[in-house]
Amino acid sequence: MLVVMQEGATEAQIQKVIDKLISLGFDVHRSTGALHTLLGGVGAKDWDPADFEVMEGVKEAHRIASPYKLASRHFRPQGSVVRVRGVEFGGASVVVVAGPCSVETAEQIERTAALVAEGGARGIRGGAFKPRSSPYSFQGLGEEGLRLLREAADRHGLFVVSEVMDRAQIPLMEPYVDVFQVGARNMQNFNLLRELGQQRKPVLLKRGIAATIEELLLSAEYILAGGNYDVLLCERGIRTFETYTRNTLDISAIPVVKKLSHLPILADPSHGTGRRDKVIPMARAAVAAGADGLLIEVHPDPDHAWSDAAQTIGPGQYAQLMGQLRLIASAVGRSL
Ligand code: PEP
Ligand code: MN
Repeated sequence: MLVVMQEGATEAQIQKVIDKLISLGFDVHRSTGALHTLLGGVGAKDWDPADFEVMEGVKEAHRIASPYKLASRHFRPQGSVVRVRGVEFGGASVVVVAGPCSVETAEQIERTAALVAEGGARGIRGGAFKPRSSPYSFQGLGEEGLRLLREAADRHGLFVVSEVMDRAQIPLMEPYVDVFQVGARNMQNFNLLRELGQQRKPVLLKRGIAATIEELLLSAEYILAGGNYDVLLCERGIRTFETYTRNTLDISAIPVVKKLSHLPILADPSHGTGRRDKVIPMARAAVAAGADGLLIEVHPDPDHAWSDAAQTIGPGQYAQLMGQLRLIASAVGRSL
């Protein structure tokens, strides 16, 4: 349920509503907007909106019909801004996070950090724990990879995004990363999501390869319900009957998520297409469709990348991409 307080409602009035919600068995989540305080109640079933509407300071009370409550646009009609080291996702700028599929060597990650920072990316991505389809493929450098990523990022003023595959990795990763990435294969690893709900660092949640948008938002709900409201969603392509591309990047998911949820939404045209020459056009399309950010695989020598070489762009394509994105962003009223 959702209780919208009147403009100027006092703290005492808000507290009374919170106490009543708790007494009915709700978990209470508070959101402070520009004008109104919103109180989201999760959990209890039997209640009457009128009981709240008669309380002092209350503007209106609603049942939220969607199965997700805190991820719903109703909870924060104005949209959420998620801050990562001073960079805002969901604000006026489109935020680019670029880097290799995997952290490989000190030299590779240093060259990548220099390259992506120079082109205008605000964050660097790179996997140290890799979910590979085959157990014989490169599995990532682990903690050593995280250390290399952190050091290179700090030298170039970038924030760090890296994938967490298991809840046991969270304490090890916490000192090195600014954003925990949950990969497509783990979108419904509910124990991992619950644990990330207890963290106070943003989470980038990728859509599962066969997940509906509603399932994506329900997975986000697990993190939000734990009290971590800093969730970034990411459309990374879904599996369809098409075989030309690795996945089908669902561009329409961007405006759909914008309507249903307040959470920022990114697009990953690298995993979304699996083909280097398709990354630039799909990145352009995602920004034109309203994406708040992009996750792009970039490598100084993409042909020799240890993972996902076919979809990884090199320095020339990256420079071209950023130049084009500046134009598209400004055409849709945003900056890069
Ligand atoms: C990745 O970003 O490196 C990755 C493995 O992505 P996904 O989970 O979308 O396949
Ligand atoms: Mn990859």
